[in-house]
Amino acid sequence: MDLGIVEVQQSFEEEVCQAGDAEELEKIRVRYLGKKGKITALMRRLGQVPPEQRPAIGKMLNRLKEHAEEVLASRLEELKSRLSEERKEKERLDITLPGRPFQIGRIHPITLILEEIEDIFVSMGFQVAEGPDVELDYYNFEALNIPRDHPARDMQDSFYIDGEVLLRTHTSPVQVRTMESMAPELPVRIIAPGKVYRRDDDVTHSPMFHQVEGLAVDRHITMGDLKGTLLLFSREMFGREREIRLRPSFFPFTEPSAEVDISCIICDGSGCRVCSETGWLEILGAGMVHPQVLEMSGYDPREVTGYAFGMGVERIAMLKYGIDDIRLFYTNDLRMLK
Ligand SMILES: [Zn+2]
Repeated sequence: MDLGIVEVQQSFEEEVCQAGDAEELEKIRVRYLGKKGKITALMRRLGQVPPEQRPAIGKMLNRLKEHAEEVLASRLEELKSRLSEERKEKERLDITLPGRPFQIGRIHPITLILEEIEDIFVSMGFQVAEGPDVELDYYNFEALNIPRDHPARDMQDSFYIDGEVLLRTHTSPVQVRTMESMAPELPVRIIAPGKVYRRDDDVTHSPMFHQVEGLAVDRHITMGDLKGTLLLFSREMFGREREIRLRPSFFPFTEPSAEVDISCIICDGSGCRVCSETGWLEILGAGMVHPQVLEMSGYDPREVTGYAFGMGVERIAMLKYGIDDIRLFYTNDLRMLK
């Protein structure tokens, strides 16, 4: 006798396959295993089966019932885990969206040039020294052989805090401070980079700008050493083919004094607009340290000599990068800094 067990099993399998959620599975369970369910009904009909077939068919029905329960349970698990996977997928943070580009800072041209100058002189055995921006009149003028009534003070109109204290007009006070602290030790070989202040304001002058001071003091230092050092510096900074020339000049704290020019970096000396057709560009002032300055700083001018030089960092940056207005360095215009 056939109770239609195979058909019931087939339809059960199909329905379970199509069920999309727990609710549908529950309906299927009721439809097959509930009180009026199809499998339950089959069990009830077992009594109608001839006694000799009953054990075998009973076994089949039990197996079908167990199977149905297992399938429903495992299908329910499957649906649950798929659902949570889907939720996780939906809630996952999407980090693949391209970010907004942000602006990366750059090193300011003045800082670049300062670092380059420091590297060149440090490689020649100089040490970097620093001094205060707010300086005593004594170090800024007096000890550099510029007494109160000296006309050279007019060249460096400054910002005074009071009669004795001012914003330094050059980095030269660091010369004096260094010699004072080192004397009578030899050799002295320093560069002093830093900000300086003067009451000037036009396309080539700013009330605040940067200088690098250089100083070497030892026995037997000559102007030849000065020229050799500056030639090497100019070639490292502006190219191997540069020549330099020294023109007589005047600074109260050096004797003799010189303005130092390099052969024009644009025309190589043949004459152009940048060098005013001269073929030369002035880049710094220099000279042999005045005996008076050596003496005031604690060195015996009969025993030692020295040279000093000072350059404007903005001037060098303007030449090197072709910038024609000094104020561009301080307006924080990103287009220029790029
Ligand atoms: Zn030129």
